[in-house]
Amino acid sequence: MRLGAGPPVRRADASGPDEVRRANLSAVLRQLHVGGAATRSDIVAATGFNRSTVGALTSELARVGLVRERPGVVRGKGRPSLVVEPVSTSAHVLALDVTQSSVGAAAVGLGGFLLQVRRRLHRTDTSDVAGVVALVAGLAAEMQARATPGSVCLGIVVSIPGSVRQPDGLVRRAPSLRWLDVPFADLLRAATGGTLPVTVGNDGDLGVVAEHLRGAGRGFRDVLYVRGEAGVGGGVVVDGELLKGVGGYAGEVGHIVVRPGGRPCACGARGCWEAEIGDAAIIRAAGRDPRESDIEDVLADVAVGDRRAVAGVRRTGEWVGTGLATLVNLFNPAIVVLGGTLGALYPTMEPALEATYARALGPIREQAALVRSGLGSDAQLVGAAEVAFADVLEDPVGTVETLRAGAALVPHPRGGEPAADPA
Ligand SMILES: [Zn+2]
Repeated sequence: MRLGAGPPVRRADASGPDEVRRANLSAVLRQLHVGGAATRSDIVAATGFNRSTVGALTSELARVGLVRERPGVVRGKGRPSLVVEPVSTSAHVLALDVTQSSVGAAAVGLGGFLLQVRRRLHRTDTSDVAGVVALVAGLAAEMQARATPGSVCLGIVVSIPGSVRQPDGLVRRAPSLRWLDVPFADLLRAATGGTLPVTVGNDGDLGVVAEHLRGAGRGFRDVLYVRGEAGVGGGVVVDGELLKGVGGYAGEVGHIVVRPGGRPCACGARGCWEAEIGDAAIIRAAGRDPRESDIEDVLADVAVGDRRAVAGVRRTGEWVGTGLATLVNLFNPAIVVLGGTLGALYPTMEPALEATYARALGPIREQAALVRSGLGSDAQLVGAAEVAFADVLEDPVGTVETLRAGAALVPHPRGGEPAADPA
């Protein structure tokens, strides 16, 4: 699932046997990366290739270390089929998730294994862009220094709660971080020494990629994802592909106006969806002051059945339903996944949300199932990782050989000795 961060690391010939082989290797590795270990027979069934083709392809992937084979269990008569599994320490990516309060980080190995996970609070206000860049670069360097020797780092992908221009990763607007036109990808590339590909994505886009491939939207080709937190982000997968739009801003759902003349929004407009259903609006509706309480207080109030909080959260559910119905009318998804605060509070919001939603949708309500996120607050990290795996899944052998030749390592952001070369 590519986000538009420029061309793949290595592009094979457009046609001919090389291209066919690359596509076949891609199909097998993608199957193992998403589906996990499988017998050669399973791979034959999933890809439609014959046994000898699958044998040749898995041997080629094993030669470069991306997969390993081990004897399987004997089922019935005959020889056991070899089990093929992705090697999580052969290739990894660095995924980061910047939110208003903290930065989450994960080193994710091939196959989607979380190898290292950490989260740090911002040291300063997020309007100090240099401080956020240093925090993100520092986390990337720490994880890279602890990566398994020999593992190829495929790149860094960062989730930002705001409008991110593609393919250059310029953050046009991130109200909850108080950023306007921040060239975050360029700044991070400079801070990490420029040796690794850096991609910056919108939190909603990365969330929908994660839910589509590994979460509640798995198995569906049309998925809508909405994450409600300080801001409200969204992403859409249409027929199995992430909807990007001409500049990468598609799915910027937080600033669609649901209530003309409504509450003032951080973006300067009034009545944006974010202003009506973001954390601050929910805290206020639950009878608390957003300057003194945070969303955790509301979750705690709701958990103990505080009537005022429950009633306020229910009322907010109407605005959630109104906005969701508009989006479902536009995109006709098979499934709508709610993440962040909206996922956490969905059971409480459900009666009012469902009533507004069903009324606005009429007969197409039956198709758009509403579910809570299967990945919770990890969704952005999981989605960022999947974007970083795009190259190796598209051209497994070419990408690994190119990166090994170039020794992908992350130098320390404060200068001095670079992190240990993992290759
Ligand atoms: Zn707005």
